[in-house]
Amino acid sequence: MTTTCDVLIQGGGGAGCSAALHLAQRGLRVILLERGLVGGQASGVNYGGVRQQGRHPAELPIARRSREIWGRLKDLVGTEAEFTVTGHLKLARSDAEEADLIAYLDVAKQYDLPLRMVGRNAIHREYPWLGPKVVAGSFAPEDGAANPRLLAPALAHAARTAGADIREHAEVVAHAHDGARFTLRTKAGDDFTAPVLLNMAGFWGGAVAEAFGESVPVAPLSPNMAVTEPLPYFIEPNLGVVGGNVYLRQIPRGNVILGGGHGENDAAIPWSRPLPEVTIEATQRAVELVPALAGAQIIRSWSGIDGKMPDAIPVIGRSRTTPGLFHAFGFSGHGFQLGPGIGAIMAELVADGRTDIPLEAFRIERFAT
Ligand SMILES: Cc1cc2nc3c(=O)[nH]c(=O)nc-3n(C[C@H](O)[C@H](O)[C@H](O)COP(=O)(O)OP(=O)(O)OC[C@H]3O[C@@H](n4cnc5c(N)ncnc54)[C@H](O)[C@@H]3O)c2cc1C
Repeated sequence: MTTTCDVLIQGGGGAGCSAALHLAQRGLRVILLERGLVGGQASGVNYGGVRQQGRHPAELPIARRSREIWGRLKDLVGTEAEFTVTGHLKLARSDAEEADLIAYLDVAKQYDLPLRMVGRNAIHREYPWLGPKVVAGSFAPEDGAANPRLLAPALAHAARTAGADIREHAEVVAHAHDGARFTLRTKAGDDFTAPVLLNMAGFWGGAVAEAFGESVPVAPLSPNMAVTEPLPYFIEPNLGVVGGNVYLRQIPRGNVILGGGHGENDAAIPWSRPLPEVTIEATQRAVELVPALAGAQIIRSWSGIDGKMPDAIPVIGRSRTTPGLFHAFGFSGHGFQLGPGIGAIMAELVADGRTDIPLEAFRIERFAT
């Protein structure tokens, strides 16, 4: 059976579901094909950081756009996905790291990202639970965190309500383009056809690009995550460090979610798992940052799979080989915050043929040989 629509989307992570919603709101007939469940991969298992500070400057216009959508998520999809504006405090543990934070203030200013330094004296006064190794921090008051389990399903639900056809357990196994239309075949043998295809398949977006003759050096990335038993609530901001080898946040229920280092994966299955020695190292670093965490029990650890590009920024924009094909994948471990905005931007590219957001840095051509 062949089903026809205006836009096909491959991949039901946060980015794909947001694109389905924004396109359906514009009256386009959208079909999204997801191999498993929406939000079943990186978008549903990540750390939940909704962070703008520290991003590559090219990503900041997208992050700002996305942050605006996070702020009205409840109106858009009926839930805030537990998005809480706790602020994000990025910490320096040496003079060189403090200099990095100071240098980023100028970048933030260029993109109207609110950010303030918390200097050597203030840092321990304002956050008396920080360990002695911390020498300074920069605080982004608009940043925070959300529950990753909730975002993609809520976006998909809203997209369905707006008229999109979201198909779960629909693995795409073959791609074709006849010069005017794409045809995608699923494992069940169903064909779907449209003049436009959005490749929003996360790490597996590399295989979709490859099917259209555009090889990209995308690698699977598996951040190592863990969560402690509930502790009395005292860590309000989402915490990171220069260099990123540990990050943690406490949810009001008391559990501390922490990450740092990488687990292992086999993206072909797909399968991933954290590594015990990496969890222990990350926990030790967390205790250095916040000594009161010493002795907290880790009750669960996990990982996931995202696509990492060599320059750690995603591929976004038109295909170089195939008219009607648009890519948005390879978010390199930081696409959860960007997902809602990416959907809006992709809808503009498709429906308006343009977007105000500069996408030059993300062109797939940067990998062309
Ligand atoms: C452990 C972990 C922690 C992270 N922490 C953060 C964080 O704190 N903050 C942040 O901003 N980012 C974070 N990230 C990154 C973020 O989760 C990802 O960048 C983002 O979710 C990617 O979204 P996506 O929609 O592009 O991809 P995905 O969520 O991977 O969605 C792609 C979808 O495509 C589907 N698909 C693939 N192949 C096919 C096929 N053949 N047919 C049909 N469907 C297919 C997959 O099943 C998948 O559901 C983290 C990532 C991980 C793994």
